[in-house]
Amino acid sequence: MQQLSEEQLKRYRRQLILKDIGEEGQKKLLETKVLIIGTGGLGSPVSLYLAAAGIGKLGLVDCDCVDLSNLQRQIIHNIDTVGIPKVDSAKTVLSRLNKDVCVEIYNCLIDEENAESIIRHYDIIVNAVDNSLTRYIVNKVCCKLKRPLVEGAIFNFEGYVTTIIPGETACYECIYEYEENDEKLEIGVIGALPGVIGSLQAMEVIKYSLNIGKLLKNELLYYNALNASFKRVKLERNVECKVCGTVSCKKN
Ligand SMILES: [Zn+2]
Repeated sequence: MQQLSEEQLKRYRRQLILKDIGEEGQKKLLETKVLIIGTGGLGSPVSLYLAAAGIGKLGLVDCDCVDLSNLQRQIIHNIDTVGIPKVDSAKTVLSRLNKDVCVEIYNCLIDEENAESIIRHYDIIVNAVDNSLTRYIVNKVCCKLKRPLVEGAIFNFEGYVTTIIPGETACYECIYEYEENDEKLEIGVIGALPGVIGSLQAMEVIKYSLNIGKLLKNELLYYNALNASFKRVKLERNVECKVCGTVSCKKN
């Protein structure tokens, strides 16, 4: 990759002066491709922070349109984009924030049919959805294609984050064995909660891209907003897991 431009040196100055990043690290970020599944409460902070940091390519997947009731927590959208597809609304904001970032949009639901063809174009996947069926599908494809997956979820005043490295750590299905569940409950949420969890997810992506620090591997980091407490829960890979049980550490 060529040298950073004057504009880039200025834009990213506050992260360039971090000794773990520097110009080489910034170039790595500019070459990283991240897929964010969901552009709601979690997807908003994840995509905003990754675009601001200069992740070179962001893929956004969502099939919904912006609704007035989303704005209380989905801070990438605004009153002018109510009624339009969330991916278009988000792309406009991210493109204005940083033109170094190429934003690719997928106005669809991730399913068994399309998951592999979308996921294979990205280095890291972020799960920012609100339903478990999508989580199982994404986990399965990430294990098959050996893509790291940063999982995040919220429920009422609690949330968690974990990073799944196929063949190395517990996968989503090692943690929550698959069960059919079509129930879609509307849960209450304060926007700052997905703000915290999504920010932690963005940080995992940046650390993975730069190969710095310690990822949340085989560990769930729980956050309880009411108690202002964090808790770490150790995870173990299930050797008999039907999704990752046969996946080795070796890269394909
Ligand atoms: Zn597994």
